[in-house]
Amino acid sequence: MLDSLEFPVATAPSPGEVHPIAPGAWWLRMPLPFALNHINLWLLEDGPGWTIVDCGYALPATQEAWERIFAERLGGRPVRRILVTHYHPDHIGLSGWLAERCQAPLWITEREWLHARMMTGNTGSDYADTAAAFARRAGLDAEDSKIFGERHSSYRRGVPSVPAAYHRLSDGMTVEIGGREWRVIVGEGHAPELACLYCEETGVLIAGDQILPRISPNISVPPHEPEGDPLARYLRSLDKFRRALPSDTLVLPSHNLPFYGAYARIEELAAHHRERCDEALAACIRPHSAAELLPVLFRRKLDRHQTAFALGESLAHLHYLHGQGELERFADTDGANRFLRKAA
Ligand SMILES: [Zn+2]
Repeated sequence: MLDSLEFPVATAPSPGEVHPIAPGAWWLRMPLPFALNHINLWLLEDGPGWTIVDCGYALPATQEAWERIFAERLGGRPVRRILVTHYHPDHIGLSGWLAERCQAPLWITEREWLHARMMTGNTGSDYADTAAAFARRAGLDAEDSKIFGERHSSYRRGVPSVPAAYHRLSDGMTVEIGGREWRVIVGEGHAPELACLYCEETGVLIAGDQILPRISPNISVPPHEPEGDPLARYLRSLDKFRRALPSDTLVLPSHNLPFYGAYARIEELAAHHRERCDEALAACIRPHSAAELLPVLFRRKLDRHQTAFALGESLAHLHYLHGQGELERFADTDGANRFLRKAA
């Protein structure tokens, strides 16, 4: 399937290194403490200084790599702004530290900034309790629900602080960076208002997690919006990117390698979700909770932490099919919501 994609550079930079990837654009990589063990970040030449795109997860190793870059790779030119695609910890994690360290403003969309501030401000147990109750309704048992709640309230570990003020990015606006125009294209579904940046002059898209080459971006119903339908938003966004981008766009994704083949990848991602929806629909001839659907959608055995990730994805497919009028939902006697295929 991936034959349709072309990867112009086979080797990624190691942490602390920077590789040129497009005119005025440099690629760097930082470690992540997960199975997905890296994130790509970008440095854009910006007149007398630099614009940073995304920050990395708060880890000592990431801070050390940034310090090496500041000392050796920026040619003594200052960081003028810190642009963040979305609120997930691997992207916005070190924004507070970087803003302080570089004395540079944060550029981000309003909904991503608000989410980051909400998630870092939330130090009480209410979010963990809300998330645990959400997991119970999705069909996990009490113990797994508690772990789910804790897992979903650990945001601050990767994001110690977020700047208290921001410069707003919004859909369709143009940002001038180093004499080039970059258009903001907002994607939804993976995050509330994810800012991608497209430069027509160089044919480059900084995609964040909206379009990834090797893995399907996580599309999950979050505990704080338990009735959400993020998959509908994501599929609409894929259509929007298909219309907005030329076919020969160089996509700079936050994970794996830069690639050509945006149209093929958009089609693969849409097809992947259609297949999962078909599997969910077939299973729901009998009532299924989101937890009961996990073995259908994920054929490998999931540990508790993977379950915490997968549960929201399972629910995203069920909510989408519910929204499409294919499934009905009912609150079952054990407290779980179950979904049943509507009679044809
Ligand atoms: Zn993300």
